[in-house]
Amino acid sequence: MSKIIIAIDGYSSCGKSTTAKNVASKLGYAYIDTGAMYRAVTLFFIQNHVSVTNPKEVHTALGQLSIEFRKSEEGRNETFLNGLCVEDEIRKLYVADRVSEVSAIAEVRHAMVDQQRKMGKKRGLVMDGRDIGTVVFPDAELKVFMTAEPLIRAQRRQIELMEKGDMMDIEDILLNIQKRDHIDTTRAESPLRRAQDAILIDTSYMTLDEQVDQLCLLADVAISSKAR
Ligand code: C5P
Repeated sequence: MSKIIIAIDGYSSCGKSTTAKNVASKLGYAYIDTGAMYRAVTLFFIQNHVSVTNPKEVHTALGQLSIEFRKSEEGRNETFLNGLCVEDEIRKLYVADRVSEVSAIAEVRHAMVDQQRKMGKKRGLVMDGRDIGTVVFPDAELKVFMTAEPLIRAQRRQIELMEKGDMMDIEDILLNIQKRDHIDTTRAESPLRRAQDAILIDTSYMTLDEQVDQLCLLADVAISSKAR
């Protein structure tokens, strides 16, 4: 059967990652969370006091870090930074607070995009992020752009954090989401925007199952039209 690339872009906490993960497992495709890659770079920069305004420091740091994904025994996708599992650490608010600043740096983006394109060489991939349909895989057979109301996104993120034992005020989360939306959509280097051929899905009032079903339907159509 023909394999395709599914590019899912959109704002944070719209359900992109969970939907992408589920769709990938239903199709037997690989799943890549590109936000985790930018979060891992950010964690490295924080831990090593890399100045984001110093191009030399940024360049050196990028040469010192390696990011990979591994599956845990329970089947959880985990992000590894220089051989250490950082999956939980990169989800914390102090990383989220700095990630948009780090991911606006052109050299950071070029390094991540190169790695992401290599991962998609064989197709059979679901990738989620901000620039997948516009920059990383403009030739993806299926492009989806997800959005949802900011307060609903903040509530979802609060539940996610709570499940990990992190109690955060909804106002702080909402502020972080709005700040990231602003930086992500206005940055000079590959800003978040909907590709012309991306299908828009507003997940505000959709359950996860509905999101997964809708994407699987769209994927079926894209796979069969590729086979024709
Ligand atoms: O998807 P997630 O919320 O984990 O992404 C964290 C941040 O990483 C985003 O707010 C954005 O600044 C950055 N990002 C990006 N390009 C991507 C994926 C994420 O700039 N493809």
